[in-house]
Amino acid sequence: MSSDDDLIALDRAHVWRPYTSSDDHERRPLFVVDRAEGPWLIAADGRRVLDASGSWWCNNLGHGHPRLREAIRRQSERVMHCTFAAATHEPAARLAAELIQVSPTGLNRVFYSDNGSTAVEVALKVAFQYWQQNGQPGRRRFVALPGAYHGDTTGAMSAGAVDEFSAVFRPLQFDVARPDEPIENDWTPVFDALFATLAEEGNEIAAVIVEPIVQGAAGMRMYSPALLAELRRKVDEAGALLIADEVFTGFGRTGPMWACEHAGITPDLLCTAKGLSGGVLPFAATLATERVYEGFRGDKSRALMHGHTFCGNPLGAAVAREVLAIYRDDDVLASAAPKAAKVKAAIEAMAAIPGVTSPRALGMCAAFQVGEPGYMGKVGWEISDVALELGAHLRPLGNTVYIVPPLNIEDDELDQLLQIVRASTERVLRSAE
Ligand code: PMP
Repeated sequence: MSSDDDLIALDRAHVWRPYTSSDDHERRPLFVVDRAEGPWLIAADGRRVLDASGSWWCNNLGHGHPRLREAIRRQSERVMHCTFAAATHEPAARLAAELIQVSPTGLNRVFYSDNGSTAVEVALKVAFQYWQQNGQPGRRRFVALPGAYHGDTTGAMSAGAVDEFSAVFRPLQFDVARPDEPIENDWTPVFDALFATLAEEGNEIAAVIVEPIVQGAAGMRMYSPALLAELRRKVDEAGALLIADEVFTGFGRTGPMWACEHAGITPDLLCTAKGLSGGVLPFAATLATERVYEGFRGDKSRALMHGHTFCGNPLGAAVAREVLAIYRDDDVLASAAPKAAKVKAAIEAMAAIPGVTSPRALGMCAAFQVGEPGYMGKVGWEISDVALELGAHLRPLGNTVYIVPPLNIEDDELDQLLQIVRASTERVLRSAE
């Protein structure tokens, strides 16, 4: 037995794989990653596949970036982890200031945690408690978008609406107001319905939470910045708070540093994770305006009673500081712009393949449909299997095929990825004709 076979056997025997039924875990191919470099996942025998889904949408600077490795090594020689209770350290203190520098104006406070779902839980709890102790306890409800995905913990699931992830847990969740699904991707009626809820029931609403501009897990669905800008105004008129979940869209994934910048808005709370650590360590943050932070002054009963063991972890914070330094030094966002243009052109050209619909791209995020939307679609998975043979690890969202390559992927590697996406899609759709 080769060592890969050993590992697969052990994995199948003992690992409980996320989002995978026990039967599928025994059946579906597993790629054994021995190491990773840039956009490549590499097997022990040297076989390389392009990491098209960015290792769950977080690998913005490629694998094994030498500066991130070095930042972790350097920090590991000082302190790898320590309490954040009545103690601080250089990485967390400096990172907070540096993060605020690159965040929408008005965000001024950083609450650390360690994954995207938790960054969202924190935002929801902050919004709820803020009103409980600042004279408007009737504001207890949340409003969110159809198709929203905000994470898998119970509060984040309540805000979410991708049934495949959370329907079984509905009885455990709190009620969240939500407009109906868009018809033919027309988001104007969806936002109009949301604005009507804000106008009619605004004084009961604690916060509106959205994935700004791109809804990731719903299938890389995009809506216009004008709607987000209007949402900011309507939330203000209703006196509620706006939470932007930038866990996926942040750190330049859609072009600018934050998707909120497309609309020129500052949310009251902003959630970030994934790209915050360059996708290499579990690290997250919830940013807040000073006004929100001020609402937690007073004695201990007014404190946000939330925290995690790895809050502000020094390794995570050090690597996040290095990520920001790389973005500055290499002008990552500007350098990604011509790559994003190439992605957009290639994905739009896919419309010529019979069976491909709705090609769309924003920044280094691109997607298309190969059948009915929804997670249960099989065609996307067939394309993924062929892509793996051709050299790319694509992880579709059912029949939504998408790519989120590193922002700094080399041009020839990007060309290769785009060719594989095209070839695997053609092969599967032609055989279905
Ligand atoms: N919010 C959004 C928009 C996400 O895309 C995700 C993860 N895909 C999360 C929250 C949850 O992040 P995590 O998986 O780190 O908990």
